[in-house]
Amino acid sequence: VRIAVPAEEEMEPRVALSPETAKKYVKLGCQVVIEKGAGARSYFPDHEYENAGAELADSAEAALEGADLVLKVGPPTDAQIKAMKNGAVVAAMLEPYGPRGTIDALAQQGVLAFAMELMPRVTRAQSMDVLSSQSNLAGYKAVVDAAAAFGRAMPMMMTAAGTVPPAKVFVMGAGVAGLQAIATARRLGGVVSATDVRPAVKEQVKSLGAKFIAVEDEEFREAETAGGYAKEMSDEYKRKQNELIAEHIKSQDIVITTALIPGRPAPRLISADMVKTMKPGAIILDMAAERGGNCELTRAGEDIVHEGIRIMGPVNIPGKVPGDASSLYARNLYAFTELMIDSESGAIKVDWDDEIIQGTALTRDGAVIHPVLTGEKE
Ligand code: NAD
Repeated sequence: VRIAVPAEEEMEPRVALSPETAKKYVKLGCQVVIEKGAGARSYFPDHEYENAGAELADSAEAALEGADLVLKVGPPTDAQIKAMKNGAVVAAMLEPYGPRGTIDALAQQGVLAFAMELMPRVTRAQSMDVLSSQSNLAGYKAVVDAAAAFGRAMPMMMTAAGTVPPAKVFVMGAGVAGLQAIATARRLGGVVSATDVRPAVKEQVKSLGAKFIAVEDEEFREAETAGGYAKEMSDEYKRKQNELIAEHIKSQDIVITTALIPGRPAPRLISADMVKTMKPGAIILDMAAERGGNCELTRAGEDIVHEGIRIMGPVNIPGKVPGDASSLYARNLYAFTELMIDSESGAIKVDWDDEIIQGTALTRDGAVIHPVLTGEKE
């Protein structure tokens, strides 16, 4: 099996192969070709890949020539897709809920494309779950960046000049990113509270030493899909929850928002009116900025100050910790692609009965097949 790893675009510092996983692929009998410099921004110099048994290519096209398996972080470019052979497999974050162009192009090229974001949340796929590995790091980084921007101290300090109160940190959405944000804010000495619409997280939030804030009615007790994701809540619930949040947010110093619903715009949790009631110097770091934002005033990719409140809308937060994000992403990809590398025959073998394959496959035999894209499923 010949594996190609093209470099990512300018705005993506991560890379889909680490020297560690290169070595593992070589051990499986694969030929691994990576574009020169592809790992540089994740602190993996070319010579480490060579030491691991990989070959270097001068361009993405050269790497892609004849490749059976293509590993990427973000979607491949049109030129890269054209350089792929019919029947090649691509594993990447292909943005299945985004614009269709790239996915249609992959289908037309006869490529088998797998979207890592759609990994089913079953126990066997935990090691392949890129949303978890990347969100975990992002949750940590968001708190560190918010703390750095905060013009006060995080921990309580008792000094001869008097006591500095601890920062109050409120985490909205306690999934993978939110739970890591809670843990990080606690380690920095903040007094932490959190909210979510899924009842299952209440115990997790409490076990991390944070206070749980939510309207716990009948709807709340049933608000989780079989896949473990949040549901869109009723207008009535949102109104009650809004009131509670509006009251709570007034006294908070740092608010980290992480709420997402797969395939939909991010739920609006903080209105402009709520921001107005916050304290001067308070910070909102909106981790959902790329998906429209949890705060009404968030601008993706920008850091704004609105009437004394700072609203940070960072994009690609895992890309701000590329060293670890790439290592984990590359391991996720290895765990997934290993399923289809048949070392004996030296060929790719896809088991179409496997729920992990079915859950992630976007294209097959020139057609777009995933139910999320064919409109059979949200
Ligand atoms: P996510 O990124 O889709 O959303 C982040 C959080 O926002 C979620 O907890 C969600 O409930 C919450 N949210 C959505 N709407 C909200 C609203 N209006 N108000 C407040 N909060 C809101 O979620 P995620 O981090 O990917 O995690 C989803 C679940 O899947 C978690 O329980 C996680 O533990 C689980 N999970 C399971 C596996 C596995 O079993 N293999 C792997 C990863 C995650």
